[in-house]
Amino acid sequence: MRAFNFSAGPAAIPLEVLEQAAQEMSDWHGCGMGVMEMSHRGREFISIYEQTHQDLKELLAVPDHFKILFLQGGGIAENAIVPLNLSQGQGVDFVLSGSWSQKSFSEAKKYCTPSISASAQADGFHHLPNPSSWRLNPKARYVHLCTNETIHGVECHELPDLKALGVDTPLVIDFSSHVLAHPVDWGRVGLAFAGAQKNIGPAGLTLVIVREDLLGQAMAICPSAFDYSVVAQFESMYNTPPTYSIYIAGLVMQWLKRQTEDDLSGVLAIQARNHQKAKLLYDTIDGSALYENRVVKANRSVMNVPFYLKDERLNELFLQGAKTQGLLQLKGHKSVGGMRASLYNAMPLEGVQALVGFMREFERKKA
Ligand SMILES: *Cc1c(COP(=O)(O)O)cnc(C)c1O
Repeated sequence: MRAFNFSAGPAAIPLEVLEQAAQEMSDWHGCGMGVMEMSHRGREFISIYEQTHQDLKELLAVPDHFKILFLQGGGIAENAIVPLNLSQGQGVDFVLSGSWSQKSFSEAKKYCTPSISASAQADGFHHLPNPSSWRLNPKARYVHLCTNETIHGVECHELPDLKALGVDTPLVIDFSSHVLAHPVDWGRVGLAFAGAQKNIGPAGLTLVIVREDLLGQAMAICPSAFDYSVVAQFESMYNTPPTYSIYIAGLVMQWLKRQTEDDLSGVLAIQARNHQKAKLLYDTIDGSALYENRVVKANRSVMNVPFYLKDERLNELFLQGAKTQGLLQLKGHKSVGGMRASLYNAMPLEGVQALVGFMREFERKKA
């Protein structure tokens, strides 16, 4: 039986996708070989790549003056690759809103001079500093913002308009853990990156979407395989791309395109469903005497819901009970403790209904 998997990543993949991949594992579309075994330059794989690229561009409405790149190394490698490509060793601005932006900030120090424009560390990363309070350096090469802090459960629901804040600096967003969950306002973005293993597909693939005018500025020490302009010039095939991960991502894109909710489809449908899921869980937490979420309401993540049992001695019992109900991977990140339910696109509403049913029953029995 398939359980409801609340893992923060690598995370659940839609069952339809896994089943189709299983069927095509050893013989893709009658060509006599599986996708893992194909040359990345052959006709078959090129068609998979082109379809995936096109579906992604359509689903996220990526404008023509952006390049969509498929890389490797994950989000953490981008913490180095972004400064190598955009900083020219100079000043960059960081908004610290949780563990992920902190990690990005530390890594950037190796390549450039990052400054902290705003930080929520003093309150334990329970809110996103309001953009109007950010101290922005007009000469910064870019501003880094993690738009969904996967560990702290803090989400930026509306991208800042840096021009309106008085600077003409490109905004770099780490949208690893909420990519494809809602539309993106590309007019406010210079570069967006995401590891694939939350909402895109298997680990091993990294998505970078970059405005064309930001290409061609890489530092001399930047590895060629990570130089965005080289990767763009070779249509993500300068080196062998993670072919199987791209193929599964392509199946996920097709699954996303098939999603409907009332009269909505694709990303808008999944966004509506994601909001229903998150509301159900947050309402359950807020309405209970046992559970709590500490994030300021306006900045709560739709994707990652950390919560605590007010009596922490019940943690193990909670996790064990959840597991017997087929509710998996609810343990919070070790740095913050407690619980975390990740409600990525592949988590159906039924999974969250089952979770809140279990939570209410657990509280009733313990009260
Ligand atoms: C998962 C995640 C990453 C990617 O980490 P890798 O292990 O390098 O793939 C980066 N940023 C955020 C916000 C994440 O949630």
